[in-house]
Amino acid sequence: MAVKVAEEWLNICGGCEVTILDIGEPLLDLLGQLNFVHMPVLMDHKYFGQTGDKDQMEIPEADVGIISGGVRTEKEKHVAEEMRKKCKTLVALGSCACYGGIPAMANMFPLADLYQKVYRDSKTTDPAETPAKDLPPLLDRVYAVDEVVPVDVSIPGCPTNPDLVVQALTALLEGKEFKLEERSVCDECPVKREKKAAGGQIKRTLDSVEFQQGQPWENTRCYMEQGYLCLGPVTLAGCGHKEEGNGTTVPRCIKGYMPCRGCFGPIRKGANPLVDMMTAISSIGLDAKQVPDRRALLNRYIGGQNRLRPLPARPR
Ligand code: SF4
Ligand code: SF4
Ligand code: SF4
Repeated sequence: MAVKVAEEWLNICGGCEVTILDIGEPLLDLLGQLNFVHMPVLMDHKYFGQTGDKDQMEIPEADVGIISGGVRTEKEKHVAEEMRKKCKTLVALGSCACYGGIPAMANMFPLADLYQKVYRDSKTTDPAETPAKDLPPLLDRVYAVDEVVPVDVSIPGCPTNPDLVVQALTALLEGKEFKLEERSVCDECPVKREKKAAGGQIKRTLDSVEFQQGQPWENTRCYMEQGYLCLGPVTLAGCGHKEEGNGTTVPRCIKGYMPCRGCFGPIRKGANPLVDMMTAISSIGLDAKQVPDRRALLNRYIGGQNRLRPLPARPR
């Protein structure tokens, strides 16, 4: 019998839903075993009856629930709670769901300051009252899904890797556990490392790393050793794809000649990427003090779970 799946998107950009489509042909093999009973991105299934005539939220019961996006509004909290009630196994898909994601950078500011900035201090809009009519109220901050309801499976990444979605769904279909191994992006990165930086300066990521397209990866120097802020040492592995031909797994951004930005989040629960990254930078001879806005930069995907909070006001 097909496994019933319910999918919901909360505080999202939609990229994680595109990841499901990006699975490509393997999705066709899985589809025969899956019965999507609820998926707002594809199905017109209203929460309160098709004509809005019900007063209880209607999410059908499912074996597997998949939630993308963090929790920013009262409505999203209600949907997450309803998904938890209706789904036997709950999956957090993508870094917004797992850690709050990029939207949780707003957790660095009190809600009142955000309203002030958006509705009254923006140079490009006419100042106005904060809208309240017919809109779900915002929560005090952005929450990861597991701060609101228990989550059984976490698949981080912004967006995540389609291969991981297949592996997770296949494991669930076979009644097995799915958990990413605690390895770093560096652990699966094939570039050449000499354990010391080529210079003392941290460079802007907008400048291009030195590489020769088509050369074996061992001929390309580690991006951090070239002076770029690459978060590979403190980021969970899982984004890599096997290259055709030699079968080498290359992390996604490294393959695009860009440093890792840390989108898969910390390698293990409780790790502190900010502290660990400052140590990694110093250990190869770069000056960690040169990292701009390090609190935001090194926590940019993981601001939920209380990692980013408003700082106390400075005395004037
Ligand atoms: S994790 Fe990234 S791709 Fe997924 S919803 Fe959030 S911002 Fe979009
Ligand atoms: S720091 Fe970046 S480029 Fe260097 S090995 Fe780690 S992931 Fe690869
Ligand atoms: S290399 Fe880093 S930022 Fe890029 S996809 Fe992988 S984990 Fe995310």
